[in-house]
Amino acid sequence: MEKKQLRIESRLAQIGSVEEPVTGAINFPIYPATAFRHPKLGQSTGFDYSRTKSPTRQVLEEAAAALESGDAGFACSSGMAALQTVFALFGQGDHLIVSLDLYGGTYRLIEKILSRYGVSATYVDTNDMDALEQSRKPNTKAVIIETPTNPLMMITDIEAVCSWARHHGLISIVDNTLLTPFFQRPIELGADIVVHSATKYLGGHNDVLAGLIVTKGKELSEEIAFLHNSIGAVLGPTDSYQLMRGMKTLALRMERHESNAMAMAMFLKEHPAVSEVFYPAFPDHPGYEVQQKQSSGNTGIFSFKVKDARYVEPLLRHIKLIAFAESLGGVESLMTYPAVQTHADIPLEIREAVGVDDRLLRFSVGIEHADDLIADLDAALNAAAAEIEGGA
Ligand SMILES: *Cc1c(COP(=O)(O)O)cnc(C)c1O
Repeated sequence: MEKKQLRIESRLAQIGSVEEPVTGAINFPIYPATAFRHPKLGQSTGFDYSRTKSPTRQVLEEAAAALESGDAGFACSSGMAALQTVFALFGQGDHLIVSLDLYGGTYRLIEKILSRYGVSATYVDTNDMDALEQSRKPNTKAVIIETPTNPLMMITDIEAVCSWARHHGLISIVDNTLLTPFFQRPIELGADIVVHSATKYLGGHNDVLAGLIVTKGKELSEEIAFLHNSIGAVLGPTDSYQLMRGMKTLALRMERHESNAMAMAMFLKEHPAVSEVFYPAFPDHPGYEVQQKQSSGNTGIFSFKVKDARYVEPLLRHIKLIAFAESLGGVESLMTYPAVQTHADIPLEIREAVGVDDRLLRFSVGIEHADDLIADLDAALNAAAAEIEGGA
């Protein structure tokens, strides 16, 4: 059977499995070589120097391209390295349109680094087609979206934005970290470039830092290949192997992350210490219908607001099973306080305009048993409430 015809669960489980020609090893080996012997002048095995191309990384890159329905894949040393490589497409005088509620590191990269190269950006609600059109300038080169956004879980209609971008000759770039190709494939919906922090769900175990780029079309693929090699923020062979190992179980993990997140979000929605839960799997979420249309499942991350900011400190102190930590997408449950952690680099006015305030917590629900997670959170919320009511 052609690999392409297999369902995604099978393709994930089989990443790198049938490609080692010498021993038949079930897993593709780690090739640490940085240099490759040439048979003779003018000949190459296809590998010359490992920044350009490396065997273990290549298996990962081909798998990533196939999973995202793209033409070429590129593995980078982190999600930020992947974004920086893509952003090197732009230069002096170029303008970008970017999702308003954005990963803090991406915002920092655009505002603090790209600005040095004369690239400017406008932040808009990419669901509002009028706002999108109004932000377009003669020098606009690309639109960059995250959906769902992190941390507020806002949904953008990928197909609508990409077809608008195409119509105006803009490159569309989608950060697909929160849903992964298991649940959402932006290139099938018209995107030109997909970017991942593979550190999150793709790696899945909070133990490998990596980024991926997948491109559609020959010209863009060649250009990103040139930038990937020229900049050199590439993923090493051991990390490439570790990432593939994580990706093999992506389907199982995403299904459990989704069902656990649903259970946790329902629990928190009813809890008296919680005022709001932002989760696109709920029919009353404004992005529910678009999310249903463009994705086959829901992410394991959501955010919520406690009714009083004073709850945050004791809550984070009392959780035990759930770790108070930065990051998301791993098998272990983590809770993050975006206002002081991931989003600290975003100016207060912008943060508060989108709702990342001091009552907001982000929850990356792991694959532990939902009952244990609920018990941990319930105990921590009640302990926090006792401290606050007691101290009032
Ligand atoms: C974590 C993250 C990034 C950055 O990736 P790193 O692997 O940490 O460099 C970019 N985008 C999103 C949505 C993320 O969650």
